[in-house]
Amino acid sequence: GLPAWPLGELAHGVRQVAPMLNVTRTWNAIGAVSHMSRAISLARDFATRRQAFGRPLIEQPLHARTLADMQAEFEGAFALAFEVAHLLGRVEHAATAAHEVALLRLLTPLAKLWTGKLAVQTCSEAIECFGGAGYIEDTGLPQLLRDAQVYAIWEGTTNVLSLDNLRALASDGFDALRTATTCWLEGNDDMHAASAIRQTLDAAARWLDQHAAQRNMLEAGARGLAFTLARCAAAALLARQATWSTNHADRRPAAALQRFIALGLDRLVTPDAGNTALLLG
Ligand SMILES: Cc1cc2nc3c(=O)[nH]c(=O)nc-3n(C[C@H](O)[C@H](O)[C@H](O)COP(=O)(O)OP(=O)(O)OC[C@H]3O[C@@H](n4cnc5c(N)ncnc54)[C@H](O)[C@@H]3O)c2cc1C
Repeated sequence: GLPAWPLGELAHGVRQVAPMLNVTRTWNAIGAVSHMSRAISLARDFATRRQAFGRPLIEQPLHARTLADMQAEFEGAFALAFEVAHLLGRVEHAATAAHEVALLRLLTPLAKLWTGKLAVQTCSEAIECFGGAGYIEDTGLPQLLRDAQVYAIWEGTTNVLSLDNLRALASDGFDALRTATTCWLEGNDDMHAASAIRQTLDAAARWLDQHAAQRNMLEAGARGLAFTLARCAAAALLARQATWSTNHADRRPAAALQRFIALGLDRLVTPDAGNTALLLG
């Protein structure tokens, strides 16, 4: 057999490997957003060249709307992924505020699972933006989608990380997110966005209270809860960027925030075990 040397106490393998997982999951989120960025850039470029129904695609209102939706989702995902990278650096250098260790513990699986799923969705939409050409192997476009799929699988699947998120919430993860959100929203004058974020966080807290005692219900709804918290964090980070950029005469991040909020924050689901059993029966 292959010789192996224990790196630490054998009884605490998960604890030993956890710091490495923080790094690889953060890397995964960065990979996912860069993949999204590439797909969107290609689709936006194509939209300026391809003429359909008498004008370039970029001038077709529905196509432009589709691209702008993708851009807004990407900007939220980018903000979250890079906040996690920033936090990881601060934690590694012991330069954190009191709530930030718990915040990193919560946001790492959230960023990984949400950006992984979003990369698949974004690459699929980008390929559709090319019409039939997007389906043709020689263009290289199908590979975008095939490669994106791994972001949702390795380093922990969406479901496995949604359950990990429950563990992070069981300690002080939720309080840390609320504290961070309050800081990120400071100075933002988009009252609609701020109130949507706070209301959705309140709804997530109620959902957790409601299902805390029923483990099966909690697990069945864990993915919806994880997406909801990831979207709230991303929206609050977009708000922080919008505040800074608006003060520097750039209104684009505020537009990204508005569109991201319009696409909805709440992904909570009502777990229905009876219904699931019937569907799978
Ligand atoms: C290209 C590639 C490279 C890889 N490289 C490495 C590597 O270098 N090192 C390494 O260690 N691993 C590596 N992996 C393995 C990878 O991390 C695992 O495949 C991944 O974590 C999923 O685990 P699994 O395959 O055992 O799936 P399973 O755990 O069997 O999951 C199957 C399905 O069941 C779902 N599921 C499982 N448990 C639950 C649950 N409790 N509740 C709800 N749903 C659940 C999952 O979400 C998934 O949809 C690699 C994988 C790929 C595809």
